Amino acid sequence: MEIFDNSEKISGNLNSTRIEELYRSLFDKLHGFVFCRIVYKNKLAQDFECILVNKTFENQIGQKNITGKTFSEIAPVLFKNESNLIERCAYIANSGLSESFETYLDSLQLWVLISIQCQELDHFILSYTIITDRKDKEKSIDILLRRYHSILEISSDGIHIIDKSGNLIEANDSFCKMLGFTKNEIKHLNITDWNAQGGKEESIALISELIFKKSFFQTKYILKDGRTIDVEVNTIGIHLDKEDYLYASAKDITARLENEKKIIDSIILLKKLNTDLESFAFIASHDLKAPLSVVRRFLSLLQDQKNSLSNENKDLYLKFIQNSVEQMNNLITELLQYSSIGNNKDEFVRIDLEDLLNSVKFTLAESIQFNRATININHLPVIFGNKTLINELFINLLSNALKFHNNSNLLTIEVGYSDKGDMHQFFVSDNGIGIAAENLQKIFTMFKRLHTQTEFIGTGIGLALCKRIVETHEGEIWVESELGKGSVFYFTIKKIELTI
Ligand code: ADP
Repeated sequence: MEIFDNSEKISGNLNSTRIEELYRSLFDKLHGFVFCRIVYKNKLAQDFECILVNKTFENQIGQKNITGKTFSEIAPVLFKNESNLIERCAYIANSGLSESFETYLDSLQLWVLISIQCQELDHFILSYTIITDRKDKEKSIDILLRRYHSILEISSDGIHIIDKSGNLIEANDSFCKMLGFTKNEIKHLNITDWNAQGGKEESIALISELIFKKSFFQTKYILKDGRTIDVEVNTIGIHLDKEDYLYASAKDITARLENEKKIIDSIILLKKLNTDLESFAFIASHDLKAPLSVVRRFLSLLQDQKNSLSNENKDLYLKFIQNSVEQMNNLITELLQYSSIGNNKDEFVRIDLEDLLNSVKFTLAESIQFNRATININHLPVIFGNKTLINELFINLLSNALKFHNNSNLLTIEVGYSDKGDMHQFFVSDNGIGIAAENLQKIFTMFKRLHTQTEFIGTGIGLALCKRIVETHEGEIWVESELGKGSVFYFTIKKIELTI
């Protein structure tokens, strides 16, 4: 309001000539301006007579004193070649309409913004601005944009741009495909819809942290169908037109991580096999040597004393030799058994454990009877596994339960089961000699025995074998025990869908 009052005061001080001069100079400095009248010949518009033009027009046409001249005289090239423009001017001068449009004048090789108005019949005012520079810039921007979009779309990585509130601004095809959304659906997403690590607050905090730097990290994205994938993300923050944006490029590395895990598992397995091999070397050099040297010693005694040896001693020596040979035989059989356990899931079949335990009891019938043991078998499920190995597992645990007791009480053995979600859990308990707390872990190591051969005969391979069988079924084995009171051996087996 103040400005208006002020300008009125100034104009009040100027005389009309000065005002006219000011208007004229303003008019001359405006864009090109020409006021024309249609020249008719036989009632047909033939040409335009210039009534008033400004300096810009004169300068651009390169002529002076144009008033009174016709268009065809002052701009013959334009008049001859731009018939569209000429017709449009004539139409507007007749119709009383006005029009603004951008057009390319081929004959002049110029882009112009033209405005044509009709003030009185058969007359028109044409004002124009040359916009070739602006058009060139627009063209360069368009080329840049198209290049940028083709880079965006050609990338196999999921490129996505978000604002600082996490709203998705733009995403390429690969990003849509990665998450399983269409281009239309993805438009309305926010980072919280795909960021699996953290809720809204954490996601916003993450953006604020990332927006000021270049980052590279690993995270998880949620897909449309609810599954999650592992991704490696590169981000860079960009400040554009007073707004902050985060540009992110995500690569799905789920398959790569799975492969890496497989490789790591194989390395672990290889290391284990190597350790087993070392153990084999150890048994060959140590555990097998002991019975072998007994055999050798008593054979040489038999040889040296063959004439003087009493029949009684001969029998005793032969008994020692026989026991040692039997021990070597057991060792070799169990070692072979241990080394033949593989991870082949193709050998997995449906096993009715109640049937299997009945057959195990039958196999051990002599020992059960000899030890006057009571064996209680609770309800057992049907599982999916390697039948030979599972049979071996129960035979080993029950044989140990039958072996490691001292007749001070009636031996009772129990086999039971509990369902642990995706695992089957079993136990084999006894009221035998029990195991000291410090040995609970050690006994699953190959050749680890807590007793001499005269106390309890054995090889020290049985529980290592059980451990390996359980691991083949993706489970674990452990023992709870109290010395003198008995032991409970637990093991788990991964549940597998029964498909047959
Ligand atoms: P082995 O039976 O040939 O000695 P194992 O590997 O089966 O070898 O067992 C290792 C050791 O664990 C045994 O020597 C014994 O000391 C201990 N052990 C295994 N089962 C029992 C059990 N039920 N009660 C007490 N001790 C046991």
